[in-house]
Amino acid sequence: MLRGLVRSSSCSYLASAWRLILLFVVVLMNPFEVKAQPVTYYPWGVTTPDPQGFVRAFPPAECTVDGVAVGSSMPDGTFGKIGTSLRVDAAASISGWCDIYIWGQYYRTETRNINAVHVTTLPPIGDGNILNITPNTWTQSLDSRNVGTTSGAVPGLLQHEGRYRFDIQTRAMPTACQIPMFSNVVEKLVFATDCRPQWLTENGNMLRPPPGDVRFNIPPELAPFQPIAEAAATDLYASLGVRIIVTVGQPCAGYGARCVTFRDTYPSPPNNQRPRGCADHSGGGVWPTGLRAGPWLIRFRSDWYEADFERNQRRLAHEFLHYFGLDNRQTSGCNQNNTIMRPADAVTTDWCNDPNPLPATVPRGPTDNDRNALVGPTYPTQNRRICGFPPIP
Ligand SMILES: [Zn+2]
Repeated sequence: MLRGLVRSSSCSYLASAWRLILLFVVVLMNPFEVKAQPVTYYPWGVTTPDPQGFVRAFPPAECTVDGVAVGSSMPDGTFGKIGTSLRVDAAASISGWCDIYIWGQYYRTETRNINAVHVTTLPPIGDGNILNITPNTWTQSLDSRNVGTTSGAVPGLLQHEGRYRFDIQTRAMPTACQIPMFSNVVEKLVFATDCRPQWLTENGNMLRPPPGDVRFNIPPELAPFQPIAEAAATDLYASLGVRIIVTVGQPCAGYGARCVTFRDTYPSPPNNQRPRGCADHSGGGVWPTGLRAGPWLIRFRSDWYEADFERNQRRLAHEFLHYFGLDNRQTSGCNQNNTIMRPADAVTTDWCNDPNPLPATVPRGPTDNDRNALVGPTYPTQNRRICGFPPIP
């Protein structure tokens, strides 16, 4: 047709050229004739693995495990003292390419690059916030620990008592192939506390009973203690998820280390002096793994029945937390309102047979502070790493 048109023209060469251009405009570019662009997209080699997150106490805060310095990294379940600054780093990589074809002809390839790694900080109180780690160049992998290659680690501060969660997520640049942009979210957990957690350990392992229900055996002559034990057991189940079955007159034989007997033979101090304590615990040995090996014993003073119900309840829960592996907490920051592991004599006017009710602010059972130290994400190989606490004098 073109050939015929040119041949039939009687005008000059220039006029023919103009006519040709007009023909193109009218025939080929006519908007009513345009169909969908025949462009096709082929994504290939697409992977979006989970990013890694790294939380560390920001110097000068150092971390220790059982008193030994271990640097500044805060793996899941680490405890940081309130006021500790931290940094969250991320390492992420993705892959993927988008080949673009037009009219079936290869046109070009888009490389799928990282846009940012989102770090969402979710504090125990208040709103979360999102900050980004962005690469300094087009790249399919980044690691903010490599100084100068990204916008750098995201800062944080442990301000409130409780659990801090850091959600790490990779976001890719959009592509013409519409490849999904987001990775899974990876969670990192750190516990903020003012009260230094302390554990009972053996051979580097936390003391604890074998997993399963625990029996609490009350001798028949101490049966009035049963409702107190039931109240403590309810709290312990709610906070630790461990069931304590309270029985009267059913000895521990056959239950091994998952049984605790109650007695009232803890010696009273001479001349009614303020006692060193109101109760104690002892028991049937420990395996090198930290697992308790035999039945256990909790003793109260013989005048326990004169004391307020809830003071006894708190005291029993305290002794049970020893059984589950928590030590007393006597360092600064620990008080009667944020842990029941503060020894009994720290509770206002708490003589062992004190009939006065506990102040309302004093917890009767395990606090979050206690629970976090026992049921963190790594229990029963409890993460005992603590950061930002001054050394015990
Ligand atoms: Zn104690």
